[in-house]
Amino acid sequence: MLVKNAPILSHLHDGLTIEGYSRAAVQTCWRVNELKLLFDVGIQPWDFMGIPTAFITHSHLDHIAALPAYVSRRRLMKMDPPVIYLPDSAVDAAWDMLQTFRKLDRGAMPCELIGLLPGDEIKIGREYVVTALPTKHTIDSVGFVVHHRRHKLKPEYHELDGPSIKALKLAGKAITDETRIPIVAYTGDTSPKGLDDNPVFFEAKILISEMTFVAPEHRKEKIHKHGHMHVDDYRARQDRFQNELIIASHLSTRYNATQVKRFVAKALPDGIGGRLKLWI
Ligand SMILES: [Zn+2]
Ligand SMILES: [Zn+2]
Repeated sequence: MLVKNAPILSHLHDGLTIEGYSRAAVQTCWRVNELKLLFDVGIQPWDFMGIPTAFITHSHLDHIAALPAYVSRRRLMKMDPPVIYLPDSAVDAAWDMLQTFRKLDRGAMPCELIGLLPGDEIKIGREYVVTALPTKHTIDSVGFVVHHRRHKLKPEYHELDGPSIKALKLAGKAITDETRIPIVAYTGDTSPKGLDDNPVFFEAKILISEMTFVAPEHRKEKIHKHGHMHVDDYRARQDRFQNELIIASHLSTRYNATQVKRFVAKALPDGIGGRLKLWI
């Protein structure tokens, strides 16, 4: 049944549907349905529960508050327990929170919580791998990049026929090379250091990032200290973005949509070659 319990925006790019909502201190959640992945669970739009895997960037309330709802709804709807990846240092407290809800709600909270450190890689099916990247926020945080893995026959085997290739495979020979294409990257909350330390953020086809502040009077130094970014940080790096699509989200509630558009148009008149999409 379709239940509309939360606002979401949606954007289709190159076969991937990016859906979600993100305002600083309010709530952040994303779904990429084609990849069967969720990123952050600050809120849970009802039909997002159908995705069995979630990656959480950090444990600020606006990114994790709906974790009990996600786990509990999947149980109620008789779906498999979800697998939830989150920064390693947040696992024990998140587990305790779920147990507290279990006492309050008198319902089980079946799920798997898996701690991540920067550099960890998680294979998603045969085709995709998610890597945790170090970001810079006020608490432990990671960003994510999803690579599409492709296996191509090594050049030295190109001349072989099907049965010979099969024989090599059965003999346990590595006959393919793996290539990886970064298709979606998500920074979560971070100062610009999070971008600069991980060049793959500039290379992924789709980058989802945060632009919490846009007004010129909001001071960059203070913003960076609090682990966030300003539109000027995008302007300073506009030649580095190779992405086909750059989604700027997590805007502060100090600004309404009109103000955001006005400040961003002033700072980035061509919208980074028309590739910047404001998520408001
Ligand atoms: Zn946040
Ligand atoms: Zn945060």
